[in-house]
Amino acid sequence: MADLFGGIEAGGTKFVCAVGTGPDDIRSETRFPTTDPQDTIARAIAFFQYEAGSVPLAAIGIASFGPIDSHPGSPTWGHITSTPKSGWAQTDLASAVARALAVPIAFDTDVNGAALGEYRWGAAQCLETFVYLTVGTGIGGGAMVEGRLLHGLVHPEMGHMLIARREDDEYSGRCPFHGSCLEGLASGPALEERWGAKAESLDPDHPAWELEAHYLALGLANLICAISAQRIILGGGVMEQLQLFPLVRDKVRALLNGYIQAPAITEENDRFIVPPSLGSRAGVLGAIALAERSVGA
Ligand code: ADP
Ligand code: ZN
Repeated sequence: MADLFGGIEAGGTKFVCAVGTGPDDIRSETRFPTTDPQDTIARAIAFFQYEAGSVPLAAIGIASFGPIDSHPGSPTWGHITSTPKSGWAQTDLASAVARALAVPIAFDTDVNGAALGEYRWGAAQCLETFVYLTVGTGIGGGAMVEGRLLHGLVHPEMGHMLIARREDDEYSGRCPFHGSCLEGLASGPALEERWGAKAESLDPDHPAWELEAHYLALGLANLICAISAQRIILGGGVMEQLQLFPLVRDKVRALLNGYIQAPAITEENDRFIVPPSLGSRAGVLGAIALAERSVGA
């Protein structure tokens, strides 16, 4: 019988827990708001103990908001580290779950989880080097490079790439560390602060989107130059504005200015910069994919 896995999408606003083997086989699922760490983690543990049935799990994957410590062997492995989210800094998430359930845990960033889910079942199948970037309350990116999820020194922080503020933009940016980094200029809350209205309420032909596409294209051009991504998947609430996709594609092509000679960029870039394909379960499926990969299934 095929191994069964657990997945925890640990988000800043909600947690989603599920048991299953993939998109067509989710056996049980629950979602609840992220409150304080103690109650939230206890609820996730209780789901696997009592609600999800008695079938043993081969592993549980946790795809978490961050920053996190995902380095095996580190004394603080499994912790959410320096997050500004109130009450959650230095929270032991993964080993608390491992101790309570006695199941192997795979722990990674939410965006690496999302990248792996898209690789396994979605928009990045058969690729080896690609980026998943979410543009929502924050901006964050996960990456697979030559078949391995990218971690490095800590883990990538693509939302904090430093980019130039456009001359006609009077908004100074909202990142507490950098002001006008990519996240500071182009996250959902930055759109709201700059234009004085929630991003989802701005018309599709509002000038906000041309400027947003400009900033996202700067970030993407840097990523393409740095890791030679074969595809970039753009998710998150802000990317529900589908008119952004053609704008971003055109601006990336213009910024790279013919230098990177690849048909994916110069000719076919509607398949190069794409939306995710796993939909609302992407986060928890990514977590299940982390679990599956950790046991080499
Ligand atoms: P989170 O990043 O918290 O996981 P989301 O990816 O949904 O959640 O991002 C929330 C942000 O995206 C908010 O700033 C919100 O204003 C913005 N947003 C949500 N839906 C839309 C939409 N349809 N169009 C534009 N912006 C949106
Ligand atoms: Zn920043």
